[in-house]
Amino acid sequence: MREARERHDLAPTASAAVGRLVTAAALLGVSLSGRERLSLQIASDGPIGGVTADAWSAGDHVIGARAYARNGRADVPLNERGKFDVARAVGHGNLQVTKTYEVGQPYSGIVRLVSGEIGEDVAAYLATSEQIPSVVAVGVLADPHGIRAAGGVIAQVLPGADESTIATLERNAASMQAVTAQIAGGADPEALLRAVAGDLDVKPFDAYAVTFDCRCTREKVETALLGLGRDELTKMAREQPRTEATCEFCRETYVLSADDVRGLVERLG
Ligand code: ZN
Repeated sequence: MREARERHDLAPTASAAVGRLVTAAALLGVSLSGRERLSLQIASDGPIGGVTADAWSAGDHVIGARAYARNGRADVPLNERGKFDVARAVGHGNLQVTKTYEVGQPYSGIVRLVSGEIGEDVAAYLATSEQIPSVVAVGVLADPHGIRAAGGVIAQVLPGADESTIATLERNAASMQAVTAQIAGGADPEALLRAVAGDLDVKPFDAYAVTFDCRCTREKVETALLGLGRDELTKMAREQPRTEATCEFCRETYVLSADDVRGLVERLG
């Protein structure tokens, strides 16, 4: 999250929104393998304009994640509880979740935002679209100097679980200290799990690292430019000595000379 904030120069409220969504993406992305990808996209009418977060398997027990806000400088005053007013920055809109598989059609589900606070919206998506009762607690502690803590926990019940189990998890999540306060106080992922589990038994199975990553390449930029077509590219090569393309996920800038663009025109035949 620190790297995402720096790359996008995110304002505090925007960093809270991006951090909550990318934390949810990373947690839900644990089950991905190979070239599968999970994408969480918020399209909304608040000053932030929308947030997108992706996660995928970046190797053995490593989750790669990336995210950006449409307007990363969006900042609004703290709410009446003294917290980041993510709901106000996000506004009204939809959360779309897309899973892309190695083969076959992608799966996509969409829900209206419940509050724009993101954690609740992800929980609503999981409950209505995937029929998995879930407790989602995600958070970011940021100040004008940067990110102090970011992370969260998602607890889901397995099919056939007792009705009271999800109620217990919800109760625990509501009464526990905010995840950001726990993390800032030194809590590790297992401690977060234990806090939400309360008296329920917890047995750690597996651990994953999360890293900011991006899958953009010069080749993908060229493919996107090829989509502009022969006429547009010819015009670009003639009118501008260099063409710049910036990846919206990581802000990496790719520069193509007029000769490079002419090379693309030739590839189009
Ligand atoms: Zn990129």
